[in-house]
Amino acid sequence: MKRENSDKLYSKAKTLFPGGVNSPVRAFKSVKGDPIFIDRGNGSRIWDVDGNEYIDFCCSWGPLILGHNNENVRKQIVSTLEKGTSFGAPTELENELGDLIISNNRFIEKIRFVNSGTEAVMSAIRLARGYTGKNKILKFEGCYHGHMDALLVSAGSGLVTLGNSSSAGIPEAYVNETLVAPLNNREAVEAAIKEHGHDLACIIIEPIPANNGLLIQDVDYLKFLRKITKENDVLLIFDEVISGFRVGFEGAAGLYNIEPDILTYGKIIGGGLPVGAYASSKEIMAQIAPDGPVYQAGTLSGNPVAMSAGIATLKECLKPNFYSDLDKKTKRFVEQIVEGIDVEKGFHIQQIGSIYWLAFSSDRVTKASEIEADKMRFFKKLYEIVLENGIYMGPSGYEVGFVSEAHSEDDLTQAAQVLNNAITQALDNEE
Ligand SMILES: *Cc1c(COP(=O)(O)O)cnc(C)c1O
Repeated sequence: MKRENSDKLYSKAKTLFPGGVNSPVRAFKSVKGDPIFIDRGNGSRIWDVDGNEYIDFCCSWGPLILGHNNENVRKQIVSTLEKGTSFGAPTELENELGDLIISNNRFIEKIRFVNSGTEAVMSAIRLARGYTGKNKILKFEGCYHGHMDALLVSAGSGLVTLGNSSSAGIPEAYVNETLVAPLNNREAVEAAIKEHGHDLACIIIEPIPANNGLLIQDVDYLKFLRKITKENDVLLIFDEVISGFRVGFEGAAGLYNIEPDILTYGKIIGGGLPVGAYASSKEIMAQIAPDGPVYQAGTLSGNPVAMSAGIATLKECLKPNFYSDLDKKTKRFVEQIVEGIDVEKGFHIQQIGSIYWLAFSSDRVTKASEIEADKMRFFKKLYEIVLENGIYMGPSGYEVGFVSEAHSEDDLTQAAQVLNNAITQALDNEE
């Protein structure tokens, strides 16, 4: 494949942006080669600036559940755009998206729109602290919640520890308010609550952790979290920035029928434009300004163009069988990928709804510590092969893949063959 134009653009980009990119994973540091610059997308396909075509399983890291350039989404965006782009005053579109979400979600009564997942989480944490009057928060090793200071922490060496910052530039004082526990482990949470419950504002979890592999949790464990938080006046936050509107319209909360106290959304909610949101009961949301004392604001929040993309996208998601069709399609895709590959070789696929992850392990993986870093060499090898054969995925073995409504059976069969060959080659070359 020709990459001349991408290479030229990347050289220029490196003079403009740190690492040549505006978000680190795009720099292809975990795989061979340099980033591919994209020119356009349509349906399941994207085309790079050298004219190469790919079936896309990155889907902008999740927002594009309808695929690229969906006609209804585009039309809605354009018709809104023609009336201006931003007013900093309320528009009817905010009501429309808010109503669409709240009236189809049993777990929330009020919502506030922001501009990204990070912003949603940051605001939800402030809300939890404001509502409870407590300071500490607990997160899990292997969950990602965006780049706010207090959540860029990883575990120390004990079962439950105060976090170590996983980024430079974070004051120790912030990190000291964050506890970190391993996923899918009850004792750790019990110990944390025993020791810190009196000052613990919230536990935040990705109910379907999908930013560090796909670490599907036991449903009983999530129910345990709900119970123990309730008993100890600790709020439970489900960060559904990926799982929201992805595994069902009501996200993981709906799928598992567990009601958290606060939910955060992003990605699909904006249909490819920058939108995030946090939502809760009327009582908890009454803490937010201007009703209450917890301040949170945004110049472009509820932006009409972004709202339009969200409305058009979520309306499609509400159509009958939308999620069951996606689920079936993805299951078949996964079966085709693994066909003939012996799980004993240390490979299987974890999948839920239209999210899947290539796991280089024979066993189910539920914790970050169970992912073996050196196995990522297999991903590196297969990535090179699949890219060359017209399949685009997130350029890291820790990233999940997404199937969209736009992926046809033919797309998926074709892609599964390429993946099956590439995985077989990657595993076999080892021996
Ligand atoms: C993507 C993601 C975020 C961050 O959202 P941004 O829009 O990138 O700021 C937060 N939490 C989860 C679970 C995510 O998947």
